[in-house]
Amino acid sequence: MEEKKLYSPKVMKEILEKYGFKFSKGLGQNFIIDKNVIDNICDSAQIDDKTGVIEIGPGLGTLTQSLCKRAKKVIAIEIDSSLKEVHKETLPYKNLELVYEDFLKLDLDKLIDEKLAGLEVKVVANLPYYITTPIIMKILEGRHRISTIAIMIQKEVAQRLVADPGTKEYGAITLAVKYYSSARIAMIVPNTVFIPKPKVDSAVVVFNVLERPVVSVENEKLLFEIIKASFGKRRKTLLNSLSSGLSYSKDEIREALESCKIDMSIRGEKLSIEQFAHIANNLIKK
Ligand code: SAM
Repeated sequence: MEEKKLYSPKVMKEILEKYGFKFSKGLGQNFIIDKNVIDNICDSAQIDDKTGVIEIGPGLGTLTQSLCKRAKKVIAIEIDSSLKEVHKETLPYKNLELVYEDFLKLDLDKLIDEKLAGLEVKVVANLPYYITTPIIMKILEGRHRISTIAIMIQKEVAQRLVADPGTKEYGAITLAVKYYSSARIAMIVPNTVFIPKPKVDSAVVVFNVLERPVVSVENEKLLFEIIKASFGKRRKTLLNSLSSGLSYSKDEIREALESCKIDMSIRGEKLSIEQFAHIANNLIKK
């Protein structure tokens, strides 16, 4: 059977017309039409015959097709069940299983245990941009048996995820990502390689998920409360942000910052994840 070049705009339009498919803006449906981008995503994720892939949102199946050719097994999760008929034509792969569900509601541990036992599990996706952060946090916070995440997201969001301390992109989400993974931008992707064309450019981000968080803290919840409080009011000093955002007294916070040798007048956005962890471990003793 001849394989369809789904990334070709002409082929894509034929399929869309044949099945009367209408793009849903609300579901973030922007389909890729560039083979290089697809290859780059698969290369960055290092997909091979020992990999079990979870793909979020296969759409017509353009990226799925390449994943099926490289990986041992692919589980593709698509919320839009109106694509079922399309998939029968576009994705005739024996190593593929399609699941028509909302990724955010999925029991990932169960899926990995039941369907991807013995394989190195990687998540790959051209993400629906309206739920980028909840998806990333679900994967990272869940501590599932997942080694790598390779996703295409909005360029501005990608820059926030991999930002360095002291830059304007650095924020609470950057620190959450740094806590669980080491992340890098693998490629910047122009908005011209999608149908329909989104307003903004995109980037492929690769996260190598750490076996253990990068810092060790006695109370993870407190660490994230400190981070949230530090970024809550960007113009306040660290001492003021923490004392208004946490249930510790100003004196307790001052003492903790002193034992960590952190300048009270510094702003939260200058601190590294190691410094935040240090503060958390000192405050917990109060
Ligand atoms: N992978 C395809 C491609 O690159 O051409 C489509 C990518 S498109 C940006 C995002 C896809 O995610 C759409 O097919 C959309 O229906 C699907 N989607 C949106 N929300 C979802 C959710 N909560 N769970 C699973 N899939 C979802």
